[in-house]
Amino acid sequence: MKIALVSTPWPLFNRPSIQLATLKAYLREHLPGAQVHAHHFYLSIAAGLGYGLYTEISESTRLSEIPYAALLFPELGEEMERLWRRATRGTKEAGDMALSQVRRALERESLRALESVAWDGFDLVGLSICLGQLTSSLYFIREIKRLAPGSRVVVGGSSCAGELGRSLMTAFPAIDHVIFGEGERPMLHLAREAASGKSVPSPFPGLLSPGDPVSPQGSSQVEDPDTLPMPDFDDYFSTLQSLPHEKAFHPRIPMEMSRGCWWRGADPDGERGCAFCNLNLQWSGYRHKSPARVAGELEILSEKYGTLSFSFMDNLLPAQGLGETCRLIRELDRDFRLFAEIRATTPRRTLLAMRRAGIRHVQVGIEALSTGLLRKLRKGTSTIANLEIMKHCETPEAPDLSANLILEFPSSDEKDVAQTLRNLDFALPFRPLKPVSFWLGFESPVWRHPARFGIRRTGNHPLYRHLFPGPVLGRLTLMTQGYHGGRRRQRRLWQPVREKTAKWDKEYRRLHQSPGSEPILSYVDGRDFLLIRHRRPGRFHMTHRLRGTSREIYLFCGTRRTLDRILSRFPGLGEERLLPFVRMMVEKRLMFREGSRVLSLAVRSR
Ligand code: SF4
Repeated sequence: MKIALVSTPWPLFNRPSIQLATLKAYLREHLPGAQVHAHHFYLSIAAGLGYGLYTEISESTRLSEIPYAALLFPELGEEMERLWRRATRGTKEAGDMALSQVRRALERESLRALESVAWDGFDLVGLSICLGQLTSSLYFIREIKRLAPGSRVVVGGSSCAGELGRSLMTAFPAIDHVIFGEGERPMLHLAREAASGKSVPSPFPGLLSPGDPVSPQGSSQVEDPDTLPMPDFDDYFSTLQSLPHEKAFHPRIPMEMSRGCWWRGADPDGERGCAFCNLNLQWSGYRHKSPARVAGELEILSEKYGTLSFSFMDNLLPAQGLGETCRLIRELDRDFRLFAEIRATTPRRTLLAMRRAGIRHVQVGIEALSTGLLRKLRKGTSTIANLEIMKHCETPEAPDLSANLILEFPSSDEKDVAQTLRNLDFALPFRPLKPVSFWLGFESPVWRHPARFGIRRTGNHPLYRHLFPGPVLGRLTLMTQGYHGGRRRQRRLWQPVREKTAKWDKEYRRLHQSPGSEPILSYVDGRDFLLIRHRRPGRFHMTHRLRGTSREIYLFCGTRRTLDRILSRFPGLGEERLLPFVRMMVEKRLMFREGSRVLSLAVRSR
């Protein structure tokens, strides 16, 4: 049994594919004697194309599907050329190149990669198709079938879940099987059936083959992720070693602690989890590895591949056992450079434990600075909680924070925008959020219940009209959806927020341009007094002094507190003294108040 696993452009080139690595290890464990080759074609193509250009394309969901669509459907060339020119405005390298140039370079590099493999020697060829990889995968499938017409092609990954995968098989008959959901068990079944000589496998949950019923078949998952073998990244590293010396770099290894999302849980009706999210289409429910397994895996992979840079690919880190996981990683006593995604409700003590373990950078699910809008988004957080994590991540003891601010969410209104504009004033001392326009994901709760969000009609995003000929597109259901319902109004509404975030970004950079700059809003403690320093761009810095109980209240509200809690902590105080103090501190933007909860905004500077 010989199996080829393939990943095509446009994943980040400096990271091996976790999908290929876990599947390869699993198949080799369960099919002794099988040869499994993982082809990270995106790496050799990135090296051939130039890492700068590759990165620009791979980081833009608007750009990434265009070049291979131009190779697949040259008859749409002129239209795509126009689209390319529009989409590359403001880019450094892509904007200097015509699509035809990029297309030729890609074709050359892709054919070189494809022709380096004897495709007719494989019993199965599996492609992992995730975001941005649709047209490149379709191009590779076409070429693999041209080079070896008898190849049996199976596709899986987040872009193939449910209806998406079924429609792909209908529109592209070169695809022989589709795996919905997790790949391990259906792929193993398919390989075993192929090994026993069956050209049509017996039905199996999560596997769609020609002639199978059109109705969904469910999925088949690995119950306990601790039973998965260590991911095998050898093929990526041997491709990397084969590159010319000047193309060498130090890769970042992806790892999984969990699959699915505990915030969403099992959610067959789209009633739970964040309203905009469709990140969990290929998983049912939530599973996570034990702390000992995570730390053990990190240790083994670090030793084997001689690296300390890892990214946890989880939608969000497990809430359960995270402290223990951090403790075990810390005991490994290595200078890890780790990245992870977390919820905004993650408490400070966990952030500190994460940083001590080597998690230096986190993507946090902030998404909004209006509690009304956060409710519509079903984030399960609030503006004050969001500001609190932004503040904690401003200190060197916690990881650096990146986060998005979702604009133009359907059903957002003037009140949400006004709240956001007001609350942004309190967020200005912290790392700026990245404004991103809402996009409608197939099977997200908003897509499932459009009327609740004022959406009248949905369908494939209009961008795809430029990428696929009409008859092909007519058979496809695709990940990014378009919709009708107040889009122009939303763009107008959110324009002031867009402008304010751009200014925020500029000023924050200006205030942090010299290395080791102090936080914008910080305090130093003199034991019976507190000095709060507010750095302001182009103006004198302001200093405020708090003494006695005022100092103690400010320190006590370092994490958000209710007024009742403050009053019970300071029994002699009384509302008549507390409320004017809080009001004054809020007016000076030194504290934030939301309902009965209060948060001090300055971070300690030592
Ligand atoms: S956005 Fe993150 S937290 Fe929200 S449902 Fe999706 S995966 Fe879960």
